[in-house]
Amino acid sequence: MNIDRRNLLKGAAVIGGVAALSGLAACNTGTPSTPSGGGDKPKWDEEFDIVIVGGGGAGLIAGIQCGLDDPAASIIILEKMSAAGGSTSLSGGNIGAMGTKNLLDFAESSGNPIYKNDTHQMYLEDKLKAGCYFGHPPITKLFCFNSTDNFNWNESLGIKWNGSRYYENPVEEPSNWRVSKLYQASQYMSVFDNTGMSDMVNRRFRYNIGSTYTNVKGENLTGGRADFGCWMDNFAKNPNGELRTDAPVKSIVREGQITGDVTGVVLEDGKRIRAKRAVILAAGGYHGNGDLVHQCDPRVPTDVKTSGGPGCTGDMLLAAQLVGAQVVNMQCVQIDFGGSVKEPSMSGNNSSNILNGPRTFVEVSKAGKRFWPEKGNDEQYMDAENCILHAEGIRSWFRVGDKNGLANRTPENFDQFEKIYGKVCQTLDEAASFIGCPAATLKETITNYNKYVDAKKDDEWGKAKGYLTNKIETPPFYVSEHTFYCRTTPGGLKIDTDSQVVDVMGNKIPRLFAAGEQTGNVHGRFRNNGGDSMCDVTCFGRLSAQVAIKLKSAE
Ligand SMILES: Cc1cc2nc3c(=O)[nH]c(=O)nc-3n(C[C@H](O)[C@H](O)[C@H](O)COP(=O)(O)OP(=O)(O)OC[C@H]3O[C@@H](n4cnc5c(N)ncnc54)[C@H](O)[C@@H]3O)c2cc1C
Repeated sequence: MNIDRRNLLKGAAVIGGVAALSGLAACNTGTPSTPSGGGDKPKWDEEFDIVIVGGGGAGLIAGIQCGLDDPAASIIILEKMSAAGGSTSLSGGNIGAMGTKNLLDFAESSGNPIYKNDTHQMYLEDKLKAGCYFGHPPITKLFCFNSTDNFNWNESLGIKWNGSRYYENPVEEPSNWRVSKLYQASQYMSVFDNTGMSDMVNRRFRYNIGSTYTNVKGENLTGGRADFGCWMDNFAKNPNGELRTDAPVKSIVREGQITGDVTGVVLEDGKRIRAKRAVILAAGGYHGNGDLVHQCDPRVPTDVKTSGGPGCTGDMLLAAQLVGAQVVNMQCVQIDFGGSVKEPSMSGNNSSNILNGPRTFVEVSKAGKRFWPEKGNDEQYMDAENCILHAEGIRSWFRVGDKNGLANRTPENFDQFEKIYGKVCQTLDEAASFIGCPAATLKETITNYNKYVDAKKDDEWGKAKGYLTNKIETPPFYVSEHTFYCRTTPGGLKIDTDSQVVDVMGNKIPRLFAAGEQTGNVHGRFRNNGGDSMCDVTCFGRLSAQVAIKLKSAE
């Protein structure tokens, strides 16, 4: 493939610009792919029909679908870590999909038949709104319109979801949103009506929960391990499919650096693997790369840890850009509030956290004072919360609740509480000493908070009225220390309606596809923790495979 000098310079300038914009220099991926420059054909160490990068949900599903569509095709999944699974196996395994039988049953039994008249178009409108309209409508549409089919496909493979949930009349509605200027200033809180209320709180989830699967070894798996276990078993049925671990991919090979077909990948050890039909990138997000996260969202510090797969460091985002790919929504970083300081793997809504949600606790800084309205992990407030933590310089904080705020947990949860989260205190003096703040300050904070509960009005921080239900007054007091983690990154490679990666000019990159968290234009600002990733990895894992497997092998 000949590249004239002018085009090469133009392309390189664009790539340089994009890489600089999205901070991808922070990815440490080593040497980029080398253009063949129209000379000798590159030498390959191995070849397969389809090469999939990343052994998480999207990679496994792409592998399964390729095998179903063409059982004779040779498929390799290359996984960087010594165990496959990525964020997928750490996840809750819940799946967002509308029109499913359990969702309709749930609507019926709960006396709210709203989902009976649901349409895929309504789902699309909600989903675009929930993503602050950063999602690209034709791509988001594929996700929503195929969600029922993708849910059923997963059920046909063997996964069961045993329940549903939706949020229709949110208790979360802030009682006085205007109280906090910082909340108002939040960069992405773009959907306000003229009272300053966020229009987004009324969005509906289509949320199927409680996944279970019994794997070929007879183990009863739950959550993300269930989904992933099922996909592993189904991929393993194909004798022409291989999942190779400890196989980090460093770069992508394209005929010309930014022109022509993608022809394969190079591993970190230098081994060159040819893809006769296509390469499918399914290497997840970049939440495991603090430098890149910080460059994309400067409010998040560089040493932020991830609550997702540690191998997800954005390597393939840089590699793909170096062959001309376009990235979008890179600033849309998603944070978990409420992880344990003591134990990084314990993040989010972990069950060892024994208090029963924001109505049962206050959160105080190390000074013993409240600093926000105790929301946590509700996406529509995430940017405001990022602003507060950044502006106040807060890296960790304490939750204080009492005996009446306990959730219905097992003795093991209580056991783990002191190991992982904090301390059970008999008095507020003891709680203050654990926090390291003056007892008088903590007592004043709690006294004021209890008054807000009585008045159903939080004059300081505008905590939602629906959450002002529990006074904190009955010992013992449960005090836990929390911090934030990067959970997931909704930005990434721009794909088209074939799940094919497009270049900086908007053209398809021949024989290069992407799926799952690797992509950037499905969800918009928020990936949505209501199970939308499991539906996403299924939708675009399958779609990328269906298109890629039909390609004729390159000469
Ligand atoms: C704590 C937690 C709970 C969640 N709960 C839910 C939930 O209930 N429902 C839901 O829908 N979503 C949930 N999510 C989000 C969801 O888990 C992810 O968005 C989704 O699993 C991403 O799947 P993936 O296949 O795209 O990426 P992953 O599953 O992360 O897989 C990507 C894989 O690629 C590998 N890789 C990376 N770079 C390379 C390279 N250079 N070479 C080779 N391999 C590479 C990684 O090691 C990794 O194994 C949750 C996330 C977290 C962190």
